[in-house]
Amino acid sequence: SPIILWYRRDLRVSDHPALSAACEAGRPVIPIVIRDDTVDALGAAPKWRWGLGVAHLAETLGAAGSRLILRSGTASDVLQALIKETGAGAVYWSRLYDPAAVARDTDIKATLKEQGIEARSFGGHLMFEPWTVETKTGGYYKVYTPMWRAVKDRDVDAPLSAPGRIPAPDTWPKSDELNDWALGAAMNRGAAIVRPHVRLGEQAAQSRLGAFIAHKVAQYDEGRDLPATDGTSGLSENLALGEISPHQCWHAGMRARHEGKRGAETFLKELVWREFAYHLMHHTPRILDQNWKEDWDAFPWNEDERKAEVKAWKQGRTGIRFVDASLREMYVTGRMHNRGRMIVASYLTKHLLCHWKIGQAWFEDCLIDWDPASNAMGWQWSAGSGPDATPYFRVFNPVTQLDKFDKNRDYVNRWIAEGRSNPHKDALSYFDAMPRRWNMSPDDTYPDPIVPADEGRKRALGAYENRGF
Ligand code: FAD
Repeated sequence: SPIILWYRRDLRVSDHPALSAACEAGRPVIPIVIRDDTVDALGAAPKWRWGLGVAHLAETLGAAGSRLILRSGTASDVLQALIKETGAGAVYWSRLYDPAAVARDTDIKATLKEQGIEARSFGGHLMFEPWTVETKTGGYYKVYTPMWRAVKDRDVDAPLSAPGRIPAPDTWPKSDELNDWALGAAMNRGAAIVRPHVRLGEQAAQSRLGAFIAHKVAQYDEGRDLPATDGTSGLSENLALGEISPHQCWHAGMRARHEGKRGAETFLKELVWREFAYHLMHHTPRILDQNWKEDWDAFPWNEDERKAEVKAWKQGRTGIRFVDASLREMYVTGRMHNRGRMIVASYLTKHLLCHWKIGQAWFEDCLIDWDPASNAMGWQWSAGSGPDATPYFRVFNPVTQLDKFDKNRDYVNRWIAEGRSNPHKDALSYFDAMPRRWNMSPDDTYPDPIVPADEGRKRALGAYENRGF
């Protein structure tokens, strides 16, 4: 009887343990995706980007003699219907770790088992399953560096190659049309503007990994902090959707380290930051929506989204160039440099004293590399409320950061058009992307800071003092 292979955020065929196991079983494989409420709940850009990934996966599967069946509805109902229609005796999937997916998958597994249907979940999204990494006293790591030390010499499974041909059933069940799902409907910013910035699919991710290791990783230690240069791997969107596996990145990084390429170890460390975020989400799912450190619960963050300062922040018109450039970059490309993410997050939560959840939600709407674990950890780290966070009294100065990391102003000039006689095309594309009601024009005078760097710092420190930290 056929095996149903349920694709979610693992949109690849190589190094895919669930797919490889299904193919090895020598039975027909029916790959499916389900548009359920977890898909409907995605932010605008992540949902649209997932749709692009699904379309691309369908092509890849087609080339391997298979198909991708699309169905909408509650995942358990869809699976039950498919089992009935196809006589499938097994359902395989790659594990996810966010609480909604875990609850859904646990229920489904129990029901299928009761019915005598084989239900198997596989790894692949992470290198180290959260329950396999423990501190000496038996808990999970709340600080990154000791976790890095604990895992850095572990063997990471060698990547599996893609199955040459995927066994097909005699007849295929019917499928929805992807276009009918309208996954890009909420992309007010105009999908056509973001599209050229997308690196889509497994092949593209693999060639980027190769090029990054060959030409960039040696300078990664310096390059990764300079937002004007293309000095990082840029693989986060592919990792977020499983178009590449962390194992594939890890082994490429290890080879570079053996070859003595400087920067390779830092790259490996970043991959472990991703694992750290997942381990935290697994052990403390409240990191997604509550202060990880509870003593922050009494802090009087502004939570009102309608406040003018919040609007100015989202729209990239705070008058602080590094902040505005970064937010505009995200709006146009669906990505933001890590340095920018830290700076805009610090500015929102410290200079503007706004709740990190406002920023977390905006990122969730705008990022094509949105990842529940990394986004939540990044925001709480920046706000000071998270594990291993930047100390709350360390307030990034977004003006001196510019002198350090964008000395020649190449980055801010790429993204800010106002006041320039010959603005960069990317800076102009921001005005094409934005909704009209934002009422901004490249001919405007660039605004004065809504909260100047020094003033905001003092205000934040005052607020912390009153809290008695
Ligand atoms: P590289 O420098 O090439 O690093 C390689 C990989 O390591 C990345 O692709 C990523 O998977 C992982 N990685 C690197 N830095 C981190 C980090 N700090 N935390 C976790 N994993 C990391 N990353 C996301 O993938 N999705 C998010 O939604 C996200 N939101 C963030 C929000 C905030 C406020 C902050 C401060 C950081 C956030 N990050 C997020 C982490 C980081 O900014 C991005 O992973 C990184 O910029 C991606 O670029 P890259 O692929 O070129 O990274």
